[in-house]
Order: sequence, then C-alpha cells, then structure tokens
Amino acid sequence: MKEDVANIIAPLLVRPITRWPFFAFLGGAMFCLLARSTCHLLSCHSELFAYFMLRLDYAGIAALISTSFYPPVYYSFMCYPFFCNLYMGFITLLGIGTVLTSLLPVFQTPEYRTFRASLFFGMGFSGAAPILHKLILFWHQPEALHTTGYEVLMGLFYGVGALVYAMRIPERWMPGKFDLAGHSHQLFHVLVVAGAYTHYRAGLVYLRWRDLQGC
Ligand SMILES: [Zn+2]
Repeated sequence: MKEDVANIIAPLLVRPITRWPFFAFLGGAMFCLLARSTCHLLSCHSELFAYFMLRLDYAGIAALISTSFYPPVYYSFMCYPFFCNLYMGFITLLGIGTVLTSLLPVFQTPEYRTFRASLFFGMGFSGAAPILHKLILFWHQPEALHTTGYEVLMGLFYGVGALVYAMRIPERWMPGKFDLAGHSHQLFHVLVVAGAYTHYRAGLVYLRWRDLQGC
C-alpha cells in the first residue's frame, strides 16, 4: 500500500501513535522556507533590515535541522525512552546553541562563511549516530532499511547543498555567468527542498510502521 494512503486509513484501523514529532518537522521545514523567502524578499530594504533577516534565516536552518531529527529519533526509539530522550535532548540543545551562536555579530562576517557551513553540516551529520543505532536495533525490520535509504539520500542532498554553498559552485569557475540563474545560492535552496521532501517520505514510512506495529 502507498504510504500516503496507509497514513490516511491507519487511524481508522488501529490505535494510531502520536503524530507530534512528524508535525514538528513539517512546522520546522515551513518555518525555515518561509524565513528564507522573507529574508530574500526583504533584506534589500536596508542594512539594518538585512542584519535581522540574516539571523532569522540562520534560525530557520537550525530549526529545520533540529526538527528533522524528531520523527526518525522518536519513532525509532519510542520503545527505548532513555535513548529517545537522549537524542531528542541533544539535538534540541544543539539547535538552540546554533541559533544563539548565529546571533553573534562576528558570525556574519565573510571569514566565518566556512565556519557557518561546517556548523550546520556538523549538526546534520550528528544524525548518523541515531541512524546507525536504529540499524543495529532493527536490522531485521524492512522499514528500518527503507527509512535509512531515504535518510542517506537526504544526507546527500543536504551535504551537496552545504558544499555548493561553501565552495560557491559553479560561479567560482565562471564568475559573472551565473549572476541571474544557476548560482550556488539557488542550487543550495533547491537541494534543501529536495532534502526536506525526502525526509517527509521517510516520515510517512515511520508512521505506517509504528501505526501497524506499535512498540
Ligand atoms: Zn537563501
């Protein structure tokens, strides 16, 4: 059965499990993309406005990365409260820390460009721990492998996105040729949307798994 259909009828057939981690991720993704659009739309208003908008933008990325952990961690470890709380607490604190760091004025300077990209990259990469842990616990479970496939694909989208952003690909090779279309920042945003969509598909697999099996 298709995941979307299964999710619509699951609440009617079985006792559904809580949806809040899935909705937290959707909220985080919407906040991130909305913050980015607002940032791009309004930052040309004035220097002061740009100052606030950039911060909103970084807060949006941190919110997206943090909330992306919620569905996989919650649904993988819902029967292991200790690890569930450990991973959820860790990524929430890391997200808050990243938002606070991004408020520092020094964080905005061009010298910190690579630092910024690595901070977000490191935040995303820490997701490898719960995913490996999930594989060890549920290696016999088809859903665990299915969602890991999606998670690897998402990691690739986000990883390539961060690389393109930090290395300024492709305009570094042909300066001036990509000023209107095809420059690194546009590619980066397309890759972020692709990553978030992949993660959404993985979230649907988790919901179906836990709706049907519980703990
Ligand atoms: Zn942007």
